[in-house]
Amino acid sequence: MKLNPIHIVGGGMAGSEAAWQIAQAGIPVVLHEMRPVTGTFAHQTSDFAELVCSNSFRSDDHENNAVGLLHWEMRAAGGLIMEMGDRHQLPAGGALAVDRHAFSAAVTERLTSHPLIEIDRAEVSGLPPADWGSTIVATGPLTSASLAQAIRAATGEESLAFFDAIAPIVYADSIDMSRAWFQSRYDKGDTEEERTAYLNCPMNREQYDRFIDALLAAEKSEFKDWEKDTPYFEGCLPVEVMAERGRETLRHGPMKPVGLTNPHNPTEKPYAVVQLRRDNALGTLFNIVGFQTKMKYGAQTEVLRLIPGLEEASFARLGGIHRNTFLNSPRLLDGQLRLKSHPHIRFAGQVTGVEGYVESASMGLLAGRLAAAEALGQRLDPPPFTTAIGALVNHITGGADARTFQPMNVNFGLFPPLEDARGGRRGRKERYKAYTDRAKAEFTAWLGAAAQPGGPAAQAAQ
Ligand SMILES: Cc1cc2nc3c(=O)[nH]c(=O)nc-3n(C[C@H](O)[C@H](O)[C@H](O)COP(=O)(O)OP(=O)(O)OC[C@H]3O[C@@H](n4cnc5c(N)ncnc54)[C@H](O)[C@@H]3O)c2cc1C
Repeated sequence: MKLNPIHIVGGGMAGSEAAWQIAQAGIPVVLHEMRPVTGTFAHQTSDFAELVCSNSFRSDDHENNAVGLLHWEMRAAGGLIMEMGDRHQLPAGGALAVDRHAFSAAVTERLTSHPLIEIDRAEVSGLPPADWGSTIVATGPLTSASLAQAIRAATGEESLAFFDAIAPIVYADSIDMSRAWFQSRYDKGDTEEERTAYLNCPMNREQYDRFIDALLAAEKSEFKDWEKDTPYFEGCLPVEVMAERGRETLRHGPMKPVGLTNPHNPTEKPYAVVQLRRDNALGTLFNIVGFQTKMKYGAQTEVLRLIPGLEEASFARLGGIHRNTFLNSPRLLDGQLRLKSHPHIRFAGQVTGVEGYVESASMGLLAGRLAAAEALGQRLDPPPFTTAIGALVNHITGGADARTFQPMNVNFGLFPPLEDARGGRRGRKERYKAYTDRAKAEFTAWLGAAAQPGGPAAQAAQ
């Protein structure tokens, strides 16, 4: 059977992995990469899978850590990024750090020497045309301006963000519910779920003053020059900038204490209230509303733990604001990572709203496998959301709230809770091991099903 090539736009972490998965399934690939003809402000070379900043793939602990589990799944699926990462590993304790130049050079060599991969060094400046057939767009956080413009025109103004204004995200089971309570302001909402959509943490005057002092004193990162010219962040001012505008500004903004009654102390009106909103359908993660911040990570945990109810908080993700091009995937993509309005186009990598090198590569791995199966006339569903890859894709294509969607690292808060696991911080170690055991068994079964007679891998080998 003669197969049409699958086009991939962008040879970064996701595009490289997708190209490898498709070519290994026996399907030709055309990989379009704009470097070195057109550069980005962060990439320095023309190699594929260049690491633009740190050289770490983070924790390699596949028993107790969600990133380590993601490594495990990508290795099990024959991932190129993990194979080359392992081969060019540097000593880094429990983390997987790599020799960045040797790593990218090795990925480049594998892709350029593969007989089924054709490389096109050119910028794709418009939406991939329908006559290309199946295409994966993996152009990353620094997608070129003309392609970003074309995606915006095709999907709508609000659908492609240029800034990542992340409010910190807290694990629900680390919030002290003897201090916090569920209630929407003025009990607004038609359903009980809407009336209790927020978790509230009250402050008295003394606590508010201490909090503002700490916020003002905390160490912050600077905006980079190229970030300063981008007009998109006026609408999401960092919380510390609001505090600098006046000590009472937050109390009249995101921390206003109105429309709320503290059931733990109904007679005393709080002086200020920090609100947290559910961040995923499972209700395991909550973001702190309006708390996007440029505080450095160490300072951030110290300041946020001053909030009553968050003294013992564990963070799935700390806050930040930086340049990042990403889609409103929960609204735009289907469960196969296809653009609903143009189903010949899949998206993969950071542009789908995952965050991090390995998360991006894992979405390339999945998009590559899904596109390969489709080209072979096979139906392949993503892995179940009890696995790291499944949990991530489920989050970006449906689990997250489209109205407040922000990019996400892989973390155990995205996994469906285990029925009989011990809750709280104390049960964490046992719970994480149970999550990773369950994920490994289910990921192995998913890989096995794909390789069954008649499955995508079997058909490709014919
Ligand atoms: C400045 C910066 C620092 C970061 N630091 C880290 C970090 O330390 N650790 C971490 O885990 N994550 C980091 N990230 C986040 C993210 O994990 C990486 O950006 C990661 O490389 C994303 O993978 P990707 O494949 O989606 O995009 P990329 O790896 O950026 O690949 C996209 C590719 O598409 C190409 N391209 C773009 N537009 C076009 C076009 N129109 N036509 C053809 N080709 C095009 C680009 O040249 C690039 O090669 C950082 C991001 C940025 C912007």
